[in-house]
Amino acid sequence: MRLLDLIYPGDIYCIACGRPLPPGTEAALCEDCASGIRWAAGRLCEKCGKILSEGNRKNLCHDCSIDEHLFRKGYTCALYSGPAAEVIRDMKYRNRPSAAAALAAIMAARIEADGSRVGARDDRGCGARDDKCGALPAWGAVIPVPMYKGKKEQRGYNQAELIASSLAKRLKIPLQKDALERSRDTGVMSSLSLGERKQNLSGALCVPPGAAKNLRGKEVLLVDDVYTTGSTTDSCAEALLAAGCTQVDFIVFASGSDGSQDLAQDDMPDTELFYKSADNPQIR
Ligand SMILES: [Zn+2]
Ligand SMILES: [Zn+2]
Repeated sequence: MRLLDLIYPGDIYCIACGRPLPPGTEAALCEDCASGIRWAAGRLCEKCGKILSEGNRKNLCHDCSIDEHLFRKGYTCALYSGPAAEVIRDMKYRNRPSAAAALAAIMAARIEADGSRVGARDDRGCGARDDKCGALPAWGAVIPVPMYKGKKEQRGYNQAELIASSLAKRLKIPLQKDALERSRDTGVMSSLSLGERKQNLSGALCVPPGAAKNLRGKEVLLVDDVYTTGSTTDSCAEALLAAGCTQVDFIVFASGSDGSQDLAQDDMPDTELFYKSADNPQIR
């Protein structure tokens, strides 16, 4: 953690561009960055929550219309592009874990907006699981997508875990940060096809011995920073369902565009190189 992060609270600077924020700014984003983000509103994929492309007349994104998913529903806040991508890259590759709490605040608001959209469920006499009601599922645990142990030691933190921890507090749902583990380094998958991603992830995400007893019979909310094709999310869901969870939903801060298997066609740096140069300046 940088000394400045200790002296000053993280939210006096914009989490995307780093400029000082006027007092009272919501969500730790300056006006320019907040308006430069394509927020998930309007037509969204019913399954994974991605922003649907203009030419897509279905209710599902390209990926969800060709592939079955093991999760039930996904929530996303923004398109992975512009300032939204900048925040994620800073957090992951430029040692800025302090952005996680600000992202969690936005993600909690996203979920709460969904829950309150149709009005208070009690007034309508609907059950908590009635989708038409807009009520939120009764999640019993918030679970971060795990990072391989060696990679976490190298980076110093798992950004998904930081976000999940802050989000769990906001939603008042227990955090189960060790419910999943990644048994090997699955590398960077942006250049892999969907089939190759699945093969690469096969068996890598699992519920460690002892964790299953706390998962049985629960609907859970999985947390990550970004979503692309859903292969990681599905691998996590597969392990959680096998361990006895009844449903797996997920939330991310940003998702790739509809029809693209990359986070953003022209906006994603060569992640592996970027990672090395940011973490190990001598490699530059
Ligand atoms: Zn900004
Ligand atoms: Zn989708």
